[in-house]
Amino acid sequence: MRNARVGWFAALMVAALVAIPSPAATKSSDLTVVLDFKGPHSAKSVDAMKQETQGILKSAGVHLDFKSREEAASTSVADLVFVRFNGACELPPAPLYDELGEIGPLASTYETDGQVQPFSEVSCDRVGAFVRSGMHGGDFKMGDLLIGKALGRVVAHELVHMLTGQAKHSHQGVFEPALTVQQLIAGELPLSPGDLERLRSRP
Ligand SMILES: [Zn+2]
Repeated sequence: MRNARVGWFAALMVAALVAIPSPAATKSSDLTVVLDFKGPHSAKSVDAMKQETQGILKSAGVHLDFKSREEAASTSVADLVFVRFNGACELPPAPLYDELGEIGPLASTYETDGQVQPFSEVSCDRVGAFVRSGMHGGDFKMGDLLIGKALGRVVAHELVHMLTGQAKHSHQGVFEPALTVQQLIAGELPLSPGDLERLRSRP
């Protein structure tokens, strides 16, 4: 009866939210995310990435509007962040690195004079190599989707930096300082309760 118990617990949490209304909990905002791909990218992976990132941030009331650089240039939007994707955003045909330790950071967000900037860079080559290292058997049939899911979690992580202005990481969830390959491709990787609170109460 494990499922029934999980369902009951979720229902209880919803009831608690309804019973204690908080303006912060109902606040929602829109954020335009400009995606700038510098290399080849699988359409399937990009779709899966957008879905995953939105799925994670929607719990904090943040609604994302993804635009290409060209689209963003012809419109004026206020709340806007840039994410640049370097390398190939698709499943690499063969392992690119021998040692996992050599992969290096998957993404970074810029900071100037202690201020987090609305600009991130994602290394698709590193994400691809890392994800590939954790794939087995049937995973390869859905390689594009897994790369997309991992990219979506990486982008969600960087968006938390940009939206909260925080460089300091959390101890759990998508905003942990380092994520394992299983955290990137398996199950779900939500925001921690603390991150949810920070995102909901941001000005
Ligand atoms: Zn980080």
